[in-house]
Amino acid sequence: MGVAQYEAVIGLEVHAQLLTQSKLFCSCSVQVGSEPNQHVCPTCLGLPGALPVGNQLAIDLAVRAALALNCTIHSSSIFARKNYFYPDLPKGYQISQFEQPFSTEGWLDIEVDGVVKRARITRVHLEEDAGKNVHGAGVESWVDLNRAGTPLIEIVGAPDLQSSAEAAAYLRALREILMFVGSNDGNMEEGSFRCDANVSLRPRGAKQLGTRTELKNINSFRYVQRAIDVEIARQASILDGGGKVTQETRSFDPESGQTRTLRSKADAHDYRYFPEPDLPPLVIEPERIAAQRAQLGELPADTRQRWLGELGLAPSAVSTLTQHPGYVRFFNEVCARFPQPVKVANWVQTEVLRDTTSHGLTASFPVTPGQVAELLQLMEEGKIGGPQAKKIHAALLGTERSPADVMQELGLMVLSDEGQLRSLCQAILEQNPKNVASYRAGKRALLGFFVGQAMKQSGGRANPELVNRLFTELLGPVEGN
Ligand code: ADP
Ligand code: MG
Ligand code: ZN
Repeated sequence: MGVAQYEAVIGLEVHAQLLTQSKLFCSCSVQVGSEPNQHVCPTCLGLPGALPVGNQLAIDLAVRAALALNCTIHSSSIFARKNYFYPDLPKGYQISQFEQPFSTEGWLDIEVDGVVKRARITRVHLEEDAGKNVHGAGVESWVDLNRAGTPLIEIVGAPDLQSSAEAAAYLRALREILMFVGSNDGNMEEGSFRCDANVSLRPRGAKQLGTRTELKNINSFRYVQRAIDVEIARQASILDGGGKVTQETRSFDPESGQTRTLRSKADAHDYRYFPEPDLPPLVIEPERIAAQRAQLGELPADTRQRWLGELGLAPSAVSTLTQHPGYVRFFNEVCARFPQPVKVANWVQTEVLRDTTSHGLTASFPVTPGQVAELLQLMEEGKIGGPQAKKIHAALLGTERSPADVMQELGLMVLSDEGQLRSLCQAILEQNPKNVASYRAGKRALLGFFVGQAMKQSGGRANPELVNRLFTELLGPVEGN
């Protein structure tokens, strides 16, 4: 008995904030971090007589996301009122889409342990966010409506996932796509990318779905997997004991590692959905869809394929460099100026990313793509070696300076003046008469010692190939050859 005889079924509902400046149905700012109730107007406060007007950018970003998720975009869709009472919802209803969402039937490829699986997406629809209830230490609570009316898409996944690992992979892939197409900043901690997980069990091999519970607003990747595993184990033990799972909404408490009942799960009919009378049907023309398709750019899975194949990058480099859309842009910009992808990948991975920070869709780099390209070019031309390049890189951090200038200033150019190097080599031979004798007597390996001395005495700047040749010449033939 236990988990093994059941099959888990998981379907995720994700709410993603669209990257607009203003709200979905009014021109209030969506800026966060302001004093409470600063970004409000009659429309988002739900005052009588105020009329909603659709934000065109939100619609474009929603269309772009749905296209990236392989959904069909419908030329006409309907906004609907979802009625419920909660203090952070001043109108008493949320404007969402119900029977006719703007897009349906897409899919997302996920990979777990090297196995690729296609997870269906049932629908993507537009809706507005609610405000926030702020609870004080005592009995008081406040309502902040700055967030009320913020544009969201809800991405409803089909119940196609069978483990917490698949659920986590689905979320990662979804977040990545939304970030790469510029619809969402993927910020789970700050709540601009939120997930509810529906979980049920059924006897292995059964066709019918079991009763599900809904785990609400899990705010980190770490918790998604744990919350689902804990919920699977809880349901298995209920079923094992001959009990029945109750359909309800539960929340995961990371402290105790348990899920607990939040409320009984409402069914769709409880919301008394009806078409929003203040908004016309949402019409999306074919030209508009085409324009968004053109904005999609290369999706991360395709980028990875191409970099592995065409560019010949190592799998680890590919996965590191595609972790953020900003990394991909940076890499591409360096390659445009210095078209040797493998060298660019190595340098960006080891030197640049160490000091790169990212927040949402913004990545801040310590150097510019132009500086990196110029530095790699100096190495390519043999003007500096790796250690010098690292020194120059360190001096460039946070500056606009040119690597060539820094090289000059720090005197880091490779020494290739033959006369100068010849005197250096001669001096080294004079300092080491015993080693010279051993070398001439047949101990060829000592060449490495002499070259090492030359590198050391020149502060690493001597041209190693030239030094090698000079020593071979100066030392003359070796006995026994
Ligand atoms: P609701 O509108 O009540 O939230 P939906 O039918 O739209 O219900 O489904 C919401 C989510 O729940 C979807 O992501 C879907 O995949 C998932 N889901 C539905 N039934 C089950 C089930 N029996 N087990 C697991 N997930 C389910
Ligand atoms: Mg739902
Ligand atoms: Zn407003």
